[in-house]
Amino acid sequence: MSCSVVITSLFFSDSLGSEGVFQHADKYNGKLLGGLLADGFDEAACTSRYSSFLYRKISLHKPSSNLISRLRSYEDLHKRCGPNTQSYNKALEQLKSGNKIGLTDCNYIVWISFSGLGNRILSLASTFLYALLTNRVLLVDQGKDMADLFCDPFPDKSWLLPGDFPLIDQFDSFNQNSPHCHGNMLKNNAINSSAMSKPSYLYLHLVHDYGDHDKLFFCDGEQSFLENVPWLIMKTDNYYVPSLFLIPSFETELSNLFPEKGTVFHHLGRYLFHPSNHVWGLITRYYRTYLAKADERIGIQIRTFDSRRGPFKHVMDQILACTLKEKLLPAVDMQDSVVNPSENAKLKAVLVTSLLSGYSEDLRNMYWEHPTMTGEVVGVYQPSHEEFQQTEKQMHNRKAWAEMYLLSLTDVLVTSAWSTFGYVAQGLGGLRPWILYKTENDTAPDPACRRAMSMDPCFHAPPFYDCKAKKGIDTGTLVPHVRHCEDISWGLKVVDDHDDL
Ligand code: GDP
Repeated sequence: MSCSVVITSLFFSDSLGSEGVFQHADKYNGKLLGGLLADGFDEAACTSRYSSFLYRKISLHKPSSNLISRLRSYEDLHKRCGPNTQSYNKALEQLKSGNKIGLTDCNYIVWISFSGLGNRILSLASTFLYALLTNRVLLVDQGKDMADLFCDPFPDKSWLLPGDFPLIDQFDSFNQNSPHCHGNMLKNNAINSSAMSKPSYLYLHLVHDYGDHDKLFFCDGEQSFLENVPWLIMKTDNYYVPSLFLIPSFETELSNLFPEKGTVFHHLGRYLFHPSNHVWGLITRYYRTYLAKADERIGIQIRTFDSRRGPFKHVMDQILACTLKEKLLPAVDMQDSVVNPSENAKLKAVLVTSLLSGYSEDLRNMYWEHPTMTGEVVGVYQPSHEEFQQTEKQMHNRKAWAEMYLLSLTDVLVTSAWSTFGYVAQGLGGLRPWILYKTENDTAPDPACRRAMSMDPCFHAPPFYDCKAKKGIDTGTLVPHVRHCEDISWGLKVVDDHDDL
């Protein structure tokens, strides 16, 4: 039994008296994550869904009752309109005919599987939020491995787009210049917001290289035009939630759903992304073997965006400067004056994730070769070192997902600037990480890191446009809860008023 199991059970038995109430509250706050998850799924088909709570501390952030009821009504919509329902077949007929004839009772947003795994998780969560805000049904292109990595999050009907979807063979070639691309059509005056007839589908290009016309997606005028298009097909590698907060027609609904604004990915991520049984095996075996017994778990995610291989001395210096200065890890006694750790010395487990093994080897050696000044003992563990990104390989992506999840189970997190891999871990874990700044000119920056303002991820490529005034504007200064990111000065992220800014 893991330490977290004990903590969770103690929490409930201390706080509730009568057995019936205990069981109900235990289930609701425990396996249903405070009402975020619906009851009644087949547990064996997806073990992680109802047992993740055994590995986590209870979240300090409760989902709002509005969010909970919105999720339940989305689940009803998905059941009514999901793959192979009558409504789906009818909408498909419209799509095939190429014309929008009359009203459809279900509108769809299709998310194209694209980019690295961290990017995919964040862009999919953003697209689900967009579906909630616009009453659309979310369907997920399976790509090579979406079904292998994740369980279905909605009851009764799959979120996966059926393999015989008519446009599926064009997904790879959809780009900014595609004839059905919304931005491209705006640029060529091929659509106009007030026209009576609407296309049966549009392609939305929200990839980091998108242009000014694609960015008009974030304007209210375009949102009302899109309302009447039954099929939207979206390709994006971005966490675009912060810019949804700047669209006036979404404002009220967003603050009802998320009174604590900086928890968007925390809740939606825990709702949507349940590791498949293969991946859950990787996570739980590793956790129980190396992390469960520790008094404290520290995650360090190391990602350098450098064309050279590494490991680099300046990055190791930076990791040590950050973790020692912020007292996340104990300093070592180079004189070796303390020889034996006491019987009840605290055990810290450090989980390192990196494509390379060098950083964790150095750290492990340091804590083996020298005692700590505090008397604590430190174990350093790294699940894999895949050397380079291999997105096309099944086991590679399973490991990447397992490692993001394991990082999210730590108590204290250090992440690398610019990395969506780290954002996923911080959001799922409800952790405000210390972010290692991006290095310049092979030197460790000073300061080496800073604490994140909020746990929500950064939108790396936001628009800077005032839709009303039709001119450029700094979108990071318009409202207090959407600010520029700590790690990317032009990025945007959602923060809370009480966040430590
Ligand atoms: P980002 O590039 O850091 O924003 O994150 P992504 O997840 O989108 O893409 C990076 C990809 O590289 C991951 O999905 C993995 O395939 C691989 N990768 C990077 N760092 C690690 C790591 O620490 N462990 C593993 N297993 N894979 C990694």
